[in-house]
Amino acid sequence: MAKVLVFLFLFLLLNNEFSFVLCCCYNLIQELLQLLLYMIRLSQGQLNLLETCPVQFQKIYLEQLSSPISPEQQAGAAWGNRFHLLMQQRELGLPVESLLKEDEELGTVIASLLSAAPEIAQPQVEGCPQTKRDAEHCRTLSFGGYLLTVIYDLLIMDDSRAKIIDWKTYLKPQNQAKLASNWQTRLYLYILAETTSYLPEQIEMIYWFVKSSHKPESLRFTYNSSQHEETRKDLTRLLSNLDSWLEANEFPHLPNCQEDICPYYVKHKDEKTMVNNWIIYINTIEEVSL
Ligand SMILES: [Zn+2]
Repeated sequence: MAKVLVFLFLFLLLNNEFSFVLCCCYNLIQELLQLLLYMIRLSQGQLNLLETCPVQFQKIYLEQLSSPISPEQQAGAAWGNRFHLLMQQRELGLPVESLLKEDEELGTVIASLLSAAPEIAQPQVEGCPQTKRDAEHCRTLSFGGYLLTVIYDLLIMDDSRAKIIDWKTYLKPQNQAKLASNWQTRLYLYILAETTSYLPEQIEMIYWFVKSSHKPESLRFTYNSSQHEETRKDLTRLLSNLDSWLEANEFPHLPNCQEDICPYYVKHKDEKTMVNNWIIYINTIEEVSL
């Protein structure tokens, strides 16, 4: 097919049909751009929601409804953002002293992280000039008609190994298996194996948990070909479910949707009850002054 197109292209070009060729190329690029624009981008957070509750995915990402967050959550998120920004600036070789002066607590946390993780502290590994490092590294993979995207906080690659580093500004979780099965771990490893020449066995992911007045701790996840195949199967299943939910414009709750974890779950399936619940709920919402 490609050969035929190249032949046709050359034939038209030789026959002074340059403007026609240009027009074809332009249309083709336009169509490709349209296709890319209409492809749904999915991150690990969206895959996690699809796995736990498709209704929440629909409300948050398709209908753009967001749940209000508490001032504590807001402050936590702002601190987390500052930490990520500072680590990125440091990686780029930009001065961070002025930022650290403003936030002593952040400076202490970063200093203890750097002493606990020498490979992060030392940008260039001695005797290994081939090591490449990149902060906030973004990758995209087209899969089943969707664009899967990841952003690695830090990616360290050498001739034989690749390490994905992710900062978490909370304490190390007790349940390691839960983090292993989280779509962040699975998708991050999967995309790196799919978009580079590294074998799954050459890739690992390390989470660093940092929090003020706590010693930084890490969790490391190795990867292999059978996990990679498993992730491929699970992605195929999840995205084909998404295809059908989008087509039917109907997103179901899953059997594990409990009232306490799913804000959209209504225990009684009776439509009338659901409508009444919504009316009661809407009436309890206070008016926001503008
Ligand atoms: Zn639900």
